[in-house]
Amino acid sequence: MFAGHLAAGLVLKKMERRINLGWLFFAALFHDFLLGILVLAGLEQIHIPANFAQTHYLTFTFPYSHGLTASIIWSLLGFAITYAVLPRWSSKERKQAGLAIALAIFSHFVLDWFVHIPEMPLLGENSPKLGLSLWNNLPLALGLEVGLVLIGFVYYLSMVKPKTNLAKYGIAVLMLLVTVLTVTGQLFSETPPPANGAAMSWIFQPFLLCGLAYWFDRKEK
Ligand SMILES: [Zn+2]
Repeated sequence: MFAGHLAAGLVLKKMERRINLGWLFFAALFHDFLLGILVLAGLEQIHIPANFAQTHYLTFTFPYSHGLTASIIWSLLGFAITYAVLPRWSSKERKQAGLAIALAIFSHFVLDWFVHIPEMPLLGENSPKLGLSLWNNLPLALGLEVGLVLIGFVYYLSMVKPKTNLAKYGIAVLMLLVTVLTVTGQLFSETPPPANGAAMSWIFQPFLLCGLAYWFDRKEK
């Protein structure tokens, strides 16, 4: 899942308007960003199933980036860091911003849980693993992802009510582009990506995407 994670960022912007959407998107993609780093460092692994041409998905050993306990720790850390770096904001705004970032981080685990096979450990690699395997029904999984983006964007327009054109149309174009790339990328991928290439893309895509979102949202308060 990729585009679907951004829907969480769009919804959570409502919690504290002063927090830039770029940061919420980064929080929602944090698990995959970390996975990219840990794969390159040799601490987590990407596996390519022999029948990739039929299944169109990779499998993983990723207890530190995508485990349940790890996700709770990353979410708490996200809250603490956000709270700490906003000393000039009111205590209420700092707490709301921290909570929005923590929920954006944790939402990644919840949304991935729907699509991954049971490979998301509760704790370490030897603990029970979670995953509802929606990727085995790819049209359903991608339909869920498109649905999440639609719901997230409609909520963003109607509840967050962005005022500037960039925050409305810029974000709309960005979401459309990312959704089309996510769906076509998974649906038509017959040859697996090289593991290091995939890892690099999880590290660099968030910079581009969150940087654009940050720019589009910078005049909103
Ligand atoms: Zn993930």
